[in-house]
Amino acid sequence: MKRELSEKMAAELIQYSCFDSLSVEKIISSFSDEQNLSKFAPDPVLRIDPRDKSIVLFNSARAKRPHDIASIQNTDAKGENKPCPICEGDTTRILDIADLSQGFTFINKNLFPIFYPSFDGGAEEGGKSGKPYGIHFLQWTSSVHDHDWHNMDIKDLMIVITRLAKLEQKLLFHSSGLMPDSGHWNNQKKTSGFISIIKNYGRQVGGSLQHGHQQIAFSNTISGQQYNNWKYLQENHQCFSKRLLEKTPENLIIKDYKSSILLVPYFMKRPYNCILAVKDTSRQFISELNDGELLSICQALSDVMNLFFDIMPKIGKEPAFNILVHNGPGAGLYIEFLPYTQETGGYEQLGLWVCQADPASAAEFMRSNIS
Ligand SMILES: [Zn+2]
Repeated sequence: MKRELSEKMAAELIQYSCFDSLSVEKIISSFSDEQNLSKFAPDPVLRIDPRDKSIVLFNSARAKRPHDIASIQNTDAKGENKPCPICEGDTTRILDIADLSQGFTFINKNLFPIFYPSFDGGAEEGGKSGKPYGIHFLQWTSSVHDHDWHNMDIKDLMIVITRLAKLEQKLLFHSSGLMPDSGHWNNQKKTSGFISIIKNYGRQVGGSLQHGHQQIAFSNTISGQQYNNWKYLQENHQCFSKRLLEKTPENLIIKDYKSSILLVPYFMKRPYNCILAVKDTSRQFISELNDGELLSICQALSDVMNLFFDIMPKIGKEPAFNILVHNGPGAGLYIEFLPYTQETGGYEQLGLWVCQADPASAAEFMRSNIS
């Protein structure tokens, strides 16, 4: 039987059908008002590892998240699939919904957030003395359970990524007074707060539900990687994607997507790690991309996800990967793909990465398998 969230069930969950005309204040208060969300709120504490400036947040409630992903936890005693909470409508209220050629895509609130709205107000930057605060969204790619980037119509994927871009734009550029000014981190753009966008697929890499989704965190706290990209810019006077585009030799290029390019970084830490870099390095956010650039990204997202589904079983691995969007002036704009192809050992924890493949062979294998 086809598993999906029905329109009827979704209608009961709709709090707002489109966030375009909502103020960010209203969006934030919808998180504070959501029943149950406060039960799973993170501790209002942030610590920084002074050695590498890693940000550490604490939320013991996340250990109670439901899981439905293959292997250990997704089958019941009879070996049947556990029901998907999203298809069953057991989720938070919806803030944005858009039709696709089959079903719809929607954005709601993460029930197990890494950030929670502040009760005492203010717009203080997260850091040694600052408290972390923010909001944490989920974007469900499709109401149909097994539709995701790899198997949906490219026009539908454009709708999904465009809604993501609109949310990014709304939060970053219309949150003055609610979030700290982040213009000094963002090339003097009139931005407030920081946005962190990821996709997890597979239980080994933090994916708890199989129903395809993206996570969007908007907070007063810069992530460690955003900080590192910014630091790279200060030290080298160019963004990191510019360096990648200039220094990557031809044999590490996997595919050219006109406005962006898929490549294996010369410092590949794990087999088949790859990066999609937007060629116009003045771009810093998804919402700054034109339609041609967005289409180029969508084609690559679809191809890479298909590629991992294809090659990971060939090397004896269950498909599992993290996808990270790197934004801000130090990044330019690039998307990093990290398939779970090799465990992380003690030397890696010391910063000595031993990769079980070489970048040139990995790029060749990926070139020959990409659609
Ligand atoms: Zn589902």
